[in-house]
Amino acid sequence: MAMRMSSLFLRTLRENPADAEVPSHQLLVRAGYIRRVSPGIYTWLPLGLRVLRRVEAIVREEMDAIGSQELLFPALLPREPYEASGRWTEYGENIFRLQDRKGDDYLLGPTHEEMFTLAVKDLYSSYKDLPLSIYQIQTKYRDESRPRAGILRGREFVMKDSYSFDLDEAGLDKSYQLHRDAYVRIFERLGFHYVIVQAMAGAMGGSKSEEFLATAENGEDTYVRCPNCGYAANVEAVRVPVPDAVDASGLPAAHVEDTPDTPTIDTLVAHLESAFPRSDGRSWTAADTLKNVVVMLVHPDGTREPLAIGLPGDREVDEKRLGANVEPATVEAFEEKDFARYPTLAKGYIGPGALGLEQSTGIRYLLDPRVSEGTAWVTGADESGRHVLDLVVGRDFTADGTIEAAEVRDGDACPSCGHGLESARGIEMGHIFQLGTRFAEALDLKVLDENGKLRTVTMGSYGVGVSRAVACVAEGNHDELGLVWPRALAPADVHVVATGKDDAVFTFAEELTRSLEAEGVEVLFDDRRQASPGVKFKDAELVGVPTIVVVGRGLADGTIEVKDRRSGERREVATADAVREVL
Ligand code: ATP
Ligand code: MG
Ligand code: MG
Ligand code: MG
Repeated sequence: MAMRMSSLFLRTLRENPADAEVPSHQLLVRAGYIRRVSPGIYTWLPLGLRVLRRVEAIVREEMDAIGSQELLFPALLPREPYEASGRWTEYGENIFRLQDRKGDDYLLGPTHEEMFTLAVKDLYSSYKDLPLSIYQIQTKYRDESRPRAGILRGREFVMKDSYSFDLDEAGLDKSYQLHRDAYVRIFERLGFHYVIVQAMAGAMGGSKSEEFLATAENGEDTYVRCPNCGYAANVEAVRVPVPDAVDASGLPAAHVEDTPDTPTIDTLVAHLESAFPRSDGRSWTAADTLKNVVVMLVHPDGTREPLAIGLPGDREVDEKRLGANVEPATVEAFEEKDFARYPTLAKGYIGPGALGLEQSTGIRYLLDPRVSEGTAWVTGADESGRHVLDLVVGRDFTADGTIEAAEVRDGDACPSCGHGLESARGIEMGHIFQLGTRFAEALDLKVLDENGKLRTVTMGSYGVGVSRAVACVAEGNHDELGLVWPRALAPADVHVVATGKDDAVFTFAEELTRSLEAEGVEVLFDDRRQASPGVKFKDAELVGVPTIVVVGRGLADGTIEVKDRRSGERREVATADAVREVL
Protein backbone atom coordinates (compact mmCIF):
# COMPACT_ATOMS: atom_id res chain seq x y z
CA MET A 1 0.00 0.00 0.00
CA ALA A 2 1.16 3.45 -0.87
CA MET A 3 2.68 5.59 1.82
CA ARG A 4 0.52 8.67 2.22
CA MET A 5 2.05 11.98 3.18
CA SER A 6 -1.14 12.86 5.11
CA SER A 7 -0.47 10.09 7.61
CA LEU A 8 3.19 9.14 7.10
CA PHE A 9 5.21 9.39 10.32
CA LEU A 10 7.36 12.20 8.98
CA ARG A 11 8.19 15.83 9.60
CA THR A 12 10.53 17.47 7.17
CA LEU A 13 12.77 20.30 8.35
CA ARG A 14 13.70 23.41 6.39
CA GLU A 15 16.86 24.07 8.40
CA ASN A 16 19.92 21.90 8.77
CA PRO A 17 20.25 20.40 12.25
CA ALA A 18 22.92 22.22 14.22
CA ASP A 19 25.09 19.13 14.77
CA ALA A 20 25.14 18.05 11.13
CA GLU A 21 28.14 19.00 9.01
CA VAL A 22 28.12 16.69 6.02
CA PRO A 23 25.32 16.77 3.42
CA SER A 24 24.15 13.18 3.91
CA HIS A 25 23.66 13.77 7.63
CA GLN A 26 21.88 17.09 7.10
CA LEU A 27 19.58 15.73 4.43
CA LEU A 28 18.74 12.39 6.04
CA VAL A 29 17.60 14.27 9.14
CA ARG A 30 15.86 17.08 7.26
CA ALA A 31 14.02 14.71 4.93
CA GLY A 32 12.82 12.60 7.84
CA TYR A 33 14.83 9.41 7.35
CA ILE A 34 16.60 9.31 10.71
CA ARG A 35 16.45 11.02 14.11
CA ARG A 36 19.24 11.32 16.60
CA VAL A 37 18.81 9.67 20.00
CA SER A 38 22.32 10.25 21.33
CA PRO A 39 25.74 10.75 19.68
CA GLY A 40 26.18 8.02 17.07
CA ILE A 41 22.83 6.44 17.94
CA TYR A 42 19.92 6.96 15.57
CA THR A 43 16.30 5.98 15.07
CA TRP A 44 15.26 4.82 11.61
CA LEU A 45 12.01 6.52 10.64
CA PRO A 46 9.72 4.82 8.07
CA LEU A 47 11.42 6.32 4.99
CA GLY A 48 14.90 5.56 6.31
CA LEU A 49 13.98 2.04 7.26
CA ARG A 50 12.79 1.35 3.74
CA VAL A 51 16.15 2.42 2.31
CA LEU A 52 18.00 0.37 4.91
CA ARG A 53 15.89 -2.68 4.02
CA ARG A 54 16.69 -2.22 0.35
CA VAL A 55 20.41 -2.18 1.05
CA GLU A 56 19.99 -5.28 3.20
CA ALA A 57 18.06 -7.03 0.43
CA ILE A 58 20.83 -6.42 -2.11
CA VAL A 59 23.50 -7.63 0.27
CA ARG A 60 21.42 -10.67 1.24
CA GLU A 61 20.79 -11.66 -2.38
CA GLU A 62 24.45 -11.51 -3.28
CA MET A 63 25.52 -13.42 -0.18
CA ASP A 64 22.92 -16.10 -0.82
CA ALA A 65 24.12 -16.28 -4.43
CA ILE A 66 27.59 -17.40 -3.33
CA GLY A 67 26.07 -20.06 -1.13
CA SER A 68 26.58 -18.27 2.16
CA GLN A 69 23.91 -19.14 4.73
CA GLU A 70 22.22 -16.53 6.85
CA LEU A 71 21.91 -16.88 10.61
CA LEU A 72 21.67 -14.43 13.46
CA PHE A 73 23.77 -14.15 16.58
CA PRO A 74 22.83 -12.18 19.66
CA ALA A 75 24.38 -8.75 20.13
CA LEU A 76 24.65 -9.29 23.89
CA LEU A 77 27.63 -11.57 24.36
CA PRO A 78 29.48 -13.14 27.26
CA ARG A 79 33.03 -12.06 27.98
CA GLU A 80 34.71 -15.46 27.85
CA PRO A 81 35.12 -15.99 24.08
CA TYR A 82 36.45 -12.47 23.67
CA GLU A 83 38.75 -13.07 26.60
CA ALA A 84 40.05 -16.22 24.90
CA SER A 85 40.81 -14.38 21.66
CA GLY A 86 42.37 -11.46 23.49
CA ARG A 87 39.91 -8.96 22.11
CA TRP A 88 38.22 -8.22 25.44
CA THR A 89 41.44 -6.32 26.24
CA GLU A 90 42.46 -5.37 22.70
CA TYR A 91 39.31 -3.42 22.04
CA GLY A 92 40.10 -1.18 24.98
CA GLU A 93 37.55 1.56 25.28
CA ASN A 94 36.04 0.79 21.89
CA ILE A 95 33.49 -1.73 23.12
CA PHE A 96 30.49 -1.43 25.33
CA ARG A 97 30.86 -3.62 28.39
CA LEU A 98 28.16 -4.38 30.91
CA GLN A 99 27.40 -6.68 33.80
CA ASP A 100 24.38 -8.76 34.61
CA ARG A 101 22.73 -8.82 38.02
CA LYS A 102 25.17 -11.44 39.22
CA GLY A 103 28.13 -9.30 38.26
CA ASP A 104 29.14 -11.40 35.25
CA ASP A 105 30.75 -9.50 32.37
CA TYR A 106 29.12 -9.05 28.98
CA LEU A 107 29.77 -6.95 25.90
CA LEU A 108 27.76 -5.69 22.98
CA GLY A 109 29.31 -7.33 19.94
CA PRO A 110 31.53 -5.05 17.80
CA THR A 111 32.09 -7.91 15.30
CA HIS A 112 31.53 -11.63 15.71
CA GLU A 113 34.59 -13.71 14.76
CA GLU A 114 34.54 -15.44 18.14
CA MET A 115 30.87 -16.39 18.01
CA PHE A 116 31.05 -17.77 14.47
CA THR A 117 34.16 -19.75 15.32
CA LEU A 118 32.48 -21.28 18.38
CA ALA A 119 29.29 -22.07 16.46
CA VAL A 120 31.24 -24.03 13.87
CA LYS A 121 33.19 -25.78 16.59
CA ASP A 122 29.87 -26.64 18.23
CA LEU A 123 28.32 -28.24 15.17
CA TYR A 124 31.11 -29.43 12.88
CA SER A 125 33.97 -31.82 13.34
CA SER A 126 35.07 -33.17 9.96
CA TYR A 127 36.81 -31.92 6.81
CA LYS A 128 33.72 -33.20 5.02
CA ASP A 129 31.75 -30.33 6.55
CA LEU A 130 33.98 -27.75 4.85
CA PRO A 131 34.08 -25.34 3.10
CA LEU A 132 31.45 -23.35 4.94
CA SER A 133 30.34 -19.76 4.58
CA ILE A 134 27.85 -18.20 7.00
CA TYR A 135 26.69 -14.63 7.54
CA GLN A 136 24.41 -12.33 9.44
CA ILE A 137 23.02 -8.83 8.98
CA GLN A 138 23.12 -7.50 12.46
CA THR A 139 23.38 -4.54 14.76
CA LYS A 140 26.91 -3.90 15.98
CA TYR A 141 28.14 -1.73 18.81
CA ARG A 142 31.38 0.18 19.01
CA ASP A 143 32.05 3.04 21.36
CA GLU A 144 33.69 5.10 18.61
CA SER A 145 35.81 7.92 19.97
CA ARG A 146 34.39 10.23 17.33
CA PRO A 147 30.93 9.20 16.15
CA ARG A 148 30.54 11.22 12.99
CA ALA A 149 28.22 12.31 10.25
CA GLY A 150 25.07 10.69 11.57
CA ILE A 151 24.86 7.06 10.57
CA LEU A 152 28.14 7.19 8.65
CA ARG A 153 30.07 6.44 11.84
CA GLY A 154 27.59 5.29 14.41
CA ARG A 155 28.10 3.72 17.81
CA GLU A 156 25.23 1.40 16.94
CA PHE A 157 25.21 0.38 13.29
CA VAL A 158 24.19 -2.40 10.95
CA MET A 159 26.83 -4.61 9.43
CA LYS A 160 26.70 -7.65 7.24
CA ASP A 161 29.46 -9.89 8.48
CA SER A 162 30.31 -13.22 6.95
CA TYR A 163 32.93 -15.80 7.76
CA SER A 164 34.46 -18.58 5.72
CA PHE A 165 35.85 -21.83 7.08
CA ASP A 166 38.28 -23.92 5.08
CA LEU A 167 40.69 -26.74 5.63
CA ASP A 168 43.65 -25.10 3.93
CA GLU A 169 45.08 -21.97 2.33
CA ALA A 170 43.88 -22.92 -1.15
CA GLY A 171 40.35 -23.22 0.17
CA LEU A 172 40.63 -19.87 1.91
CA ASP A 173 41.84 -18.27 -1.33
CA LYS A 174 38.75 -19.58 -3.09
CA SER A 175 36.36 -18.41 -0.38
CA TYR A 176 38.03 -15.01 -0.33
CA GLN A 177 37.71 -14.66 -4.09
CA LEU A 178 34.02 -15.65 -3.99
CA HIS A 179 33.39 -12.94 -1.44
CA ARG A 180 35.42 -10.41 -3.37
CA ASP A 181 33.34 -11.08 -6.47
CA ALA A 182 30.12 -10.83 -4.46
CA TYR A 183 31.28 -7.51 -3.04
CA VAL A 184 31.94 -6.17 -6.53
CA ARG A 185 28.34 -7.04 -7.42
CA ILE A 186 26.98 -5.54 -4.20
CA PHE A 187 28.78 -2.25 -4.66
CA GLU A 188 27.84 -2.04 -8.33
CA ARG A 189 24.19 -2.55 -7.39
CA LEU A 190 24.38 0.01 -4.61
CA GLY A 191 25.61 2.40 -7.27
CA PHE A 192 28.85 3.46 -5.64
CA HIS A 193 31.86 4.88 -7.34
CA TYR A 194 34.35 2.76 -5.48
CA VAL A 195 37.90 1.50 -5.50
CA ILE A 196 39.34 -1.71 -4.11
CA VAL A 197 42.51 -1.00 -2.19
CA GLN A 198 45.03 -3.05 -0.29
CA ALA A 199 44.42 -2.73 3.41
CA MET A 200 46.30 -3.42 6.60
CA ALA A 201 46.26 -7.17 6.90
CA GLY A 202 47.79 -7.45 10.30
CA ALA A 203 45.00 -5.87 12.29
CA MET A 204 43.15 -9.18 12.53
CA GLY A 205 46.23 -11.34 12.60
CA GLY A 206 45.80 -12.43 8.99
CA SER A 207 47.70 -12.27 5.77
CA LYS A 208 45.65 -10.59 3.06
CA SER A 209 43.10 -7.86 3.22
CA GLU A 210 41.33 -5.42 0.92
CA GLU A 211 38.95 -2.54 1.46
CA PHE A 212 36.16 -1.29 -0.76
CA LEU A 213 36.25 2.48 -0.50
CA ALA A 214 33.47 4.65 -1.89
CA THR A 215 35.20 7.65 -3.39
CA ALA A 216 34.19 10.76 -1.47
CA GLU A 217 35.99 14.04 -0.89
CA ASN A 218 35.11 14.13 2.78
CA GLY A 219 35.86 10.45 3.37
CA GLU A 220 37.96 9.61 6.40
CA ASP A 221 40.29 7.23 4.56
CA THR A 222 43.07 8.35 2.24
CA TYR A 223 44.24 5.99 -0.44
CA VAL A 224 46.85 6.15 -3.17
CA ARG A 225 46.48 4.86 -6.67
CA CYS A 226 48.98 4.35 -9.42
CA PRO A 227 47.69 5.54 -12.80
CA ASN A 228 50.31 3.38 -14.50
CA CYS A 229 49.93 -0.11 -13.03
CA GLY A 230 46.65 0.14 -11.12
CA TYR A 231 48.20 -0.45 -7.68
CA ALA A 232 45.88 0.99 -5.04
CA ALA A 233 46.24 0.96 -1.28
CA ASN A 234 44.94 2.64 1.79
CA VAL A 235 47.79 4.91 2.92
CA GLU A 236 47.74 2.95 6.15
CA ALA A 237 48.90 -0.02 4.13
CA VAL A 238 51.31 1.36 1.55
CA ARG A 239 54.42 -0.78 1.75
CA VAL A 240 57.95 0.23 1.06
CA PRO A 241 60.60 -2.43 1.57
CA VAL A 242 63.08 -1.91 4.37
CA PRO A 243 66.42 -0.83 2.89
CA ASP A 244 68.94 -3.65 2.85
CA ALA A 245 71.99 -1.70 3.75
CA VAL A 246 72.04 1.62 5.45
CA ASP A 247 74.63 4.16 6.61
CA ALA A 248 76.88 3.20 9.45
CA SER A 249 76.32 6.21 11.57
CA GLY A 250 74.15 7.10 14.45
CA LEU A 251 74.59 4.46 17.06
CA PRO A 252 77.93 4.28 18.84
CA ALA A 253 80.40 1.76 17.43
CA ALA A 254 80.00 -1.68 18.83
CA HIS A 255 82.31 -3.56 21.08
CA VAL A 256 81.28 -6.29 23.36
CA GLU A 257 82.48 -5.06 26.67
CA ASP A 258 80.40 -3.64 29.38
CA THR A 259 81.65 -0.07 29.24
CA PRO A 260 79.54 3.04 29.36
CA ASP A 261 79.89 3.31 25.56
CA THR A 262 78.71 -0.17 24.75
CA PRO A 263 75.53 -0.02 22.76
CA THR A 264 73.04 -1.83 24.91
CA ILE A 265 69.30 -1.74 24.88
CA ASP A 266 69.50 1.47 26.87
CA THR A 267 71.70 3.02 24.18
CA LEU A 268 69.10 2.08 21.66
CA VAL A 269 66.43 3.78 23.71
CA ALA A 270 68.61 6.87 23.89
CA HIS A 271 69.17 6.70 20.15
CA LEU A 272 65.47 6.41 19.51
CA GLU A 273 64.95 9.44 21.61
CA SER A 274 67.19 11.50 19.37
CA ALA A 275 66.09 9.88 16.10
CA PHE A 276 62.43 10.45 16.80
CA PRO A 277 62.27 13.59 18.88
CA ARG A 278 59.09 14.86 20.34
CA SER A 279 57.89 17.99 18.67
CA ASP A 280 57.84 19.79 22.00
CA GLY A 281 61.44 18.81 22.72
CA ARG A 282 60.61 16.91 25.89
CA SER A 283 61.85 13.43 26.70
CA TRP A 284 61.03 10.66 24.27
CA THR A 285 59.59 8.55 27.02
CA ALA A 286 56.13 9.99 26.59
CA ALA A 287 53.63 7.70 24.95
CA ASP A 288 52.79 9.82 21.94
CA THR A 289 56.20 9.60 20.35
CA LEU A 290 56.31 5.85 20.78
CA LYS A 291 53.45 5.49 18.43
CA ASN A 292 54.51 4.43 14.94
CA VAL A 293 58.05 3.77 16.02
CA VAL A 294 58.54 0.09 15.71
CA VAL A 295 61.31 -2.35 16.31
CA MET A 296 61.54 -5.38 14.06
CA LEU A 297 63.34 -8.48 15.18
CA VAL A 298 65.16 -10.10 12.29
CA HIS A 299 65.94 -13.75 12.84
CA PRO A 300 69.04 -15.30 11.29
CA ASP A 301 66.85 -16.92 8.61
CA GLY A 302 65.60 -13.48 7.58
CA THR A 303 62.10 -13.71 9.02
CA ARG A 304 61.02 -10.63 10.85
CA GLU A 305 58.68 -9.95 13.68
CA PRO A 306 57.69 -6.69 15.18
CA LEU A 307 58.16 -5.64 18.77
CA ALA A 308 56.20 -3.16 20.69
CA ILE A 309 58.32 -0.55 22.36
CA GLY A 310 57.58 0.97 25.62
CA LEU A 311 59.08 1.96 28.88
CA PRO A 312 57.88 1.19 32.35
CA GLY A 313 55.68 3.59 34.16
CA ASP A 314 52.67 5.23 32.73
CA ARG A 315 53.78 4.99 29.12
CA GLU A 316 51.70 3.35 26.50
CA VAL A 317 52.25 0.69 23.91
CA ASP A 318 50.32 1.36 20.78
CA GLU A 319 50.53 -1.79 18.82
CA LYS A 320 47.62 -1.13 16.52
CA ARG A 321 49.84 -0.74 13.52
CA LEU A 322 51.78 -3.86 14.34
CA GLY A 323 49.07 -6.28 13.66
CA ALA A 324 47.55 -7.27 16.94
CA ASN A 325 45.25 -4.27 17.02
CA VAL A 326 46.08 -3.66 20.61
CA GLU A 327 44.62 -0.50 21.95
CA PRO A 328 46.99 1.71 23.88
CA ALA A 329 47.65 -0.06 27.12
CA THR A 330 49.87 0.66 30.01
CA VAL A 331 53.06 -1.31 29.74
CA GLU A 332 53.03 -2.05 33.40
CA ALA A 333 49.64 -3.61 33.04
CA PHE A 334 51.02 -6.20 30.66
CA GLU A 335 51.81 -9.37 32.45
CA GLU A 336 53.25 -12.54 31.10
CA LYS A 337 49.86 -13.90 30.09
CA ASP A 338 49.19 -10.78 28.04
CA PHE A 339 52.39 -11.27 26.09
CA ALA A 340 51.33 -14.78 25.33
CA ARG A 341 48.03 -13.54 24.04
CA TYR A 342 49.40 -10.94 21.67
CA PRO A 343 51.75 -12.72 19.35
CA THR A 344 53.48 -9.55 18.27
CA LEU A 345 54.12 -8.54 21.82
CA ALA A 346 55.42 -11.94 22.71
CA LYS A 347 59.05 -10.91 22.48
CA GLY A 348 58.56 -8.07 24.85
CA TYR A 349 59.33 -4.47 24.26
CA ILE A 350 62.33 -2.25 24.11
CA GLY A 351 63.23 -0.78 27.41
CA PRO A 352 64.04 -1.76 30.93
CA GLY A 353 61.53 -3.25 33.28
CA ALA A 354 59.53 -6.41 33.52
CA LEU A 355 59.67 -8.58 30.43
CA GLY A 356 61.99 -6.22 28.63
CA LEU A 357 63.64 -7.15 25.38
CA GLU A 358 66.76 -8.28 27.15
CA GLN A 359 64.98 -10.98 29.09
CA SER A 360 62.75 -12.18 26.31
CA THR A 361 65.28 -12.33 23.48
CA GLY A 362 68.63 -12.66 25.13
CA ILE A 363 69.94 -9.61 23.31
CA ARG A 364 72.28 -7.66 25.48
CA TYR A 365 74.47 -5.76 23.06
CA LEU A 366 73.80 -4.09 19.76
CA LEU A 367 76.54 -4.50 17.13
CA ASP A 368 77.19 -3.16 13.67
CA PRO A 369 74.74 -0.31 13.73
CA ARG A 370 73.56 1.07 10.41
CA VAL A 371 71.31 4.04 10.37
CA SER A 372 69.57 5.97 7.66
CA GLU A 373 66.52 8.14 7.48
CA GLY A 374 64.24 7.02 10.21
CA THR A 375 65.70 3.53 10.26
CA ALA A 376 68.32 1.87 12.38
CA TRP A 377 69.58 -1.65 11.78
CA VAL A 378 71.64 -3.34 14.44
CA THR A 379 72.86 -6.80 15.17
CA GLY A 380 71.86 -8.13 18.56
CA ALA A 381 74.37 -10.13 20.55
CA ASP A 382 74.07 -11.97 23.82
CA GLU A 383 76.37 -11.77 26.85
CA SER A 384 79.13 -13.66 25.10
CA GLY A 385 78.95 -11.60 21.93
CA ARG A 386 77.14 -14.35 20.02
CA HIS A 387 74.86 -13.08 17.25
CA VAL A 388 71.32 -13.61 18.54
CA LEU A 389 68.98 -11.55 16.44
CA ASP A 390 69.03 -8.40 14.38
CA LEU A 391 66.93 -5.42 15.16
CA VAL A 392 65.56 -2.87 12.78
CA VAL A 393 64.17 0.23 14.34
CA GLY A 394 62.04 2.58 12.36
CA ARG A 395 58.85 4.41 11.98
CA ASP A 396 55.76 2.65 10.71
CA PHE A 397 56.93 -0.85 10.07
CA THR A 398 54.36 -3.49 9.41
CA ALA A 399 54.20 -7.07 10.53
CA ASP A 400 55.87 -8.42 7.41
CA GLY A 401 58.91 -6.22 7.75
CA THR A 402 58.14 -3.45 5.34
CA ILE A 403 57.68 0.19 6.15
CA GLU A 404 54.25 1.64 6.06
CA ALA A 405 54.72 4.91 4.32
CA ALA A 406 51.89 6.65 6.07
CA GLU A 407 53.19 9.92 4.76
CA VAL A 408 52.95 8.91 1.09
CA ARG A 409 51.16 11.53 -0.96
CA ASP A 410 50.64 12.66 -4.39
CA GLY A 411 53.63 12.10 -6.57
CA ASP A 412 55.53 9.58 -4.45
CA ALA A 413 56.80 6.51 -6.22
CA CYS A 414 54.49 3.54 -6.62
CA PRO A 415 55.94 0.60 -4.63
CA SER A 416 54.95 -1.68 -7.47
CA CYS A 417 56.18 0.15 -10.62
CA GLY A 418 57.81 3.40 -9.47
CA HIS A 419 55.39 5.68 -11.30
CA GLY A 420 54.03 8.71 -9.41
CA LEU A 421 51.10 7.94 -7.11
CA GLU A 422 47.89 9.92 -6.89
CA SER A 423 46.01 10.26 -3.65
CA ALA A 424 42.30 10.64 -2.98
CA ARG A 425 39.78 10.12 -0.21
CA GLY A 426 37.14 7.54 0.38
CA ILE A 427 34.66 6.02 2.81
CA GLU A 428 35.32 2.44 3.89
CA MET A 429 32.25 0.49 2.80
CA GLY A 430 33.52 -3.05 2.88
CA HIS A 431 36.48 -4.90 4.26
CA ILE A 432 37.57 -8.44 3.51
CA PHE A 433 40.23 -10.39 5.40
CA GLN A 434 42.06 -13.64 5.15
CA LEU A 435 42.16 -14.27 8.87
CA GLY A 436 44.06 -17.52 8.79
CA THR A 437 44.02 -19.44 12.05
CA ARG A 438 44.10 -16.71 14.68
CA PHE A 439 40.56 -17.27 15.94
CA ALA A 440 40.46 -20.99 15.24
CA GLU A 441 43.62 -21.37 17.31
CA ALA A 442 42.43 -19.16 20.14
CA LEU A 443 39.11 -21.01 20.38
CA ASP A 444 40.41 -24.40 19.36
CA LEU A 445 38.40 -24.96 16.20
CA LYS A 446 39.79 -28.13 14.65
CA VAL A 447 38.36 -30.77 12.34
CA LEU A 448 39.52 -34.25 11.44
CA ASP A 449 41.18 -34.42 8.04
CA GLU A 450 41.12 -37.34 5.57
CA ASN A 451 43.77 -39.15 7.58
CA GLY A 452 41.93 -38.78 10.86
CA LYS A 453 44.31 -36.07 12.06
CA LEU A 454 43.10 -32.91 13.77
CA ARG A 455 43.64 -29.77 11.69
CA THR A 456 43.08 -26.16 12.66
CA VAL A 457 40.50 -24.54 10.42
CA THR A 458 41.50 -21.47 8.41
CA MET A 459 39.10 -18.55 8.29
CA GLY A 460 38.16 -15.42 6.41
CA SER A 461 35.98 -12.56 7.59
CA TYR A 462 34.10 -10.13 5.40
CA GLY A 463 32.16 -7.01 6.38
CA VAL A 464 29.83 -4.57 4.66
CA GLY A 465 28.63 -1.40 6.35
CA VAL A 466 24.92 -1.71 5.67
CA SER A 467 23.72 1.35 7.57
CA ARG A 468 26.83 3.26 6.50
CA ALA A 469 25.85 2.48 2.89
CA VAL A 470 22.65 4.49 3.34
CA ALA A 471 24.66 7.56 4.40
CA CYS A 472 27.29 6.92 1.78
CA VAL A 473 24.76 6.71 -1.06
CA ALA A 474 23.10 9.88 0.23
CA GLU A 475 26.53 11.54 0.33
CA GLY A 476 27.08 10.77 -3.34
CA ASN A 477 23.50 11.44 -4.49
CA HIS A 478 22.10 14.83 -3.57
CA ASP A 479 21.84 18.39 -4.85
CA GLU A 480 21.05 21.73 -3.26
CA LEU A 481 17.37 20.80 -3.04
CA GLY A 482 17.68 17.46 -1.33
CA LEU A 483 18.36 13.76 -1.74
CA VAL A 484 18.42 12.08 -5.17
CA TRP A 485 18.11 8.34 -4.60
CA PRO A 486 19.20 5.82 -7.17
CA ARG A 487 16.19 3.74 -8.14
CA ALA A 488 17.48 0.56 -6.49
CA LEU A 489 17.55 2.14 -3.04
CA ALA A 490 14.83 4.79 -3.06
CA PRO A 491 12.11 4.50 -0.39
CA ALA A 492 9.57 4.53 -3.25
CA ASP A 493 9.74 4.46 -7.04
CA VAL A 494 7.32 7.29 -7.70
CA HIS A 495 6.24 10.31 -5.67
CA VAL A 496 2.71 11.31 -6.74
CA VAL A 497 1.91 14.89 -5.76
CA ALA A 498 -1.69 16.11 -5.88
CA THR A 499 -1.95 19.92 -5.75
CA GLY A 500 -4.73 22.46 -5.34
CA LYS A 501 -8.22 22.09 -3.93
CA ASP A 502 -9.98 20.36 -6.80
CA ASP A 503 -11.48 16.99 -5.79
CA ALA A 504 -11.02 15.67 -9.33
CA VAL A 505 -7.24 16.13 -8.92
CA PHE A 506 -7.20 14.03 -5.75
CA THR A 507 -9.48 11.41 -7.26
CA PHE A 508 -7.25 11.06 -10.33
CA ALA A 509 -4.09 10.99 -8.26
CA GLU A 510 -5.62 8.28 -6.10
CA GLU A 511 -6.51 6.19 -9.15
CA LEU A 512 -3.08 6.72 -10.66
CA THR A 513 -1.50 5.57 -7.41
CA ARG A 514 -3.56 2.37 -7.45
CA SER A 515 -2.81 1.68 -11.11
CA LEU A 516 0.91 2.12 -10.52
CA GLU A 517 0.79 -0.17 -7.53
CA ALA A 518 -1.01 -2.76 -9.61
CA GLU A 519 2.06 -2.68 -11.87
CA GLY A 520 4.34 -3.31 -8.89
CA VAL A 521 5.48 0.29 -8.56
CA GLU A 522 5.97 1.58 -5.01
CA VAL A 523 4.34 4.95 -4.53
CA LEU A 524 4.69 7.77 -2.04
CA PHE A 525 1.44 9.71 -2.41
CA ASP A 526 1.23 13.33 -1.30
CA ASP A 527 -2.50 13.44 -0.60
CA ARG A 528 -2.33 16.34 1.86
CA ARG A 529 -5.26 18.71 1.42
CA GLN A 530 -3.86 21.53 3.56
CA ALA A 531 -0.26 21.85 2.40
CA SER A 532 0.51 24.37 -0.36
CA PRO A 533 1.93 23.24 -3.73
CA GLY A 534 5.20 24.97 -2.78
CA VAL A 535 5.55 22.93 0.40
CA LYS A 536 4.72 19.72 -1.44
CA PHE A 537 7.25 20.36 -4.21
CA LYS A 538 9.94 21.26 -1.68
CA ASP A 539 9.23 18.08 0.27
CA ALA A 540 9.32 15.98 -2.90
CA GLU A 541 12.73 17.41 -3.85
CA LEU A 542 14.00 16.90 -0.32
CA VAL A 543 12.79 13.30 0.02
CA GLY A 544 14.38 12.45 -3.31
CA VAL A 545 12.20 9.74 -4.87
CA PRO A 546 13.48 9.33 -8.46
CA THR A 547 10.25 10.12 -10.34
CA ILE A 548 7.86 12.88 -9.26
CA VAL A 549 4.40 12.98 -10.85
CA VAL A 550 2.44 16.20 -10.36
CA VAL A 551 -1.30 16.07 -10.75
CA GLY A 552 -2.72 19.60 -10.70
CA ARG A 553 -4.15 22.33 -12.86
CA GLY A 554 -3.21 20.56 -16.09
CA LEU A 555 -5.66 17.79 -15.34
CA ALA A 556 -8.50 19.91 -16.74
CA ASP A 557 -6.62 19.85 -20.08
CA GLY A 558 -5.96 16.14 -19.78
CA THR A 559 -2.28 16.36 -18.75
CA ILE A 560 -0.08 15.67 -15.75
CA GLU A 561 3.60 16.42 -15.26
CA VAL A 562 6.32 13.80 -14.90
CA LYS A 563 9.59 15.03 -13.47
CA ASP A 564 12.93 13.26 -13.22
CA ARG A 565 14.36 14.16 -9.83
CA ARG A 566 17.97 13.72 -10.91
CA SER A 567 18.04 15.60 -14.21
CA GLY A 568 15.23 17.98 -13.33
CA GLU A 569 13.72 17.26 -16.75
CA ARG A 570 9.90 17.74 -16.86
CA ARG A 571 7.43 16.34 -19.37
CA GLU A 572 3.74 16.99 -19.91
CA VAL A 573 2.04 13.64 -20.33
CA ALA A 574 -1.51 12.86 -21.39
CA THR A 575 -3.53 11.42 -18.51
CA ALA A 576 -4.46 8.44 -20.65
CA ASP A 577 -0.74 7.55 -21.00
CA ALA A 578 0.15 8.30 -17.40
CA VAL A 579 0.92 4.79 -16.16
CA ARG A 580 2.86 3.81 -19.26
CA GLU A 581 4.89 7.04 -19.20
CA VAL A 582 5.81 6.65 -15.57
CA LEU A 583 6.82 2.98 -15.73
P1 ATP B 1 36.47 2.37 10.04
O1 ATP B 1 37.89 2.34 9.53
O2 ATP B 1 35.60 3.27 9.23
O3 ATP B 1 36.42 2.66 11.51
P2 ATP B 1 36.59 -0.39 10.49
O4 ATP B 1 37.80 -0.72 9.70
O5 ATP B 1 36.72 -0.20 11.95
O6 ATP B 1 35.88 0.90 9.86
P3 ATP B 1 35.55 -3.05 10.07
O7 ATP B 1 35.87 -3.61 11.39
O8 ATP B 1 36.41 -3.37 8.91
O9 ATP B 1 35.42 -1.45 10.23
O10 ATP B 1 34.00 -3.37 9.80
C1 ATP B 1 33.44 -3.70 8.52
C2 ATP B 1 32.60 -2.58 7.97
O11 ATP B 1 31.65 -2.06 8.91
C3 ATP B 1 33.41 -1.36 7.58
O12 ATP B 1 34.01 -1.56 6.31
C4 ATP B 1 32.36 -0.26 7.57
O13 ATP B 1 31.68 -0.24 6.33
C5 ATP B 1 31.40 -0.70 8.65
N1 ATP B 1 31.61 0.09 9.88
C6 ATP B 1 32.64 0.00 10.74
N2 ATP B 1 32.50 0.84 11.77
C7 ATP B 1 31.33 1.49 11.55
C8 ATP B 1 30.62 2.50 12.26
N3 ATP B 1 31.08 2.98 13.39
N4 ATP B 1 29.43 2.94 11.75
C9 ATP B 1 28.96 2.44 10.60
N5 ATP B 1 29.58 1.49 9.89
C10 ATP B 1 30.75 1.02 10.34
MG1 MG C 1 36.82 1.45 13.09
MG1 MG D 1 39.10 0.89 8.69
MG1 MG E 1 37.98 -2.15 8.27
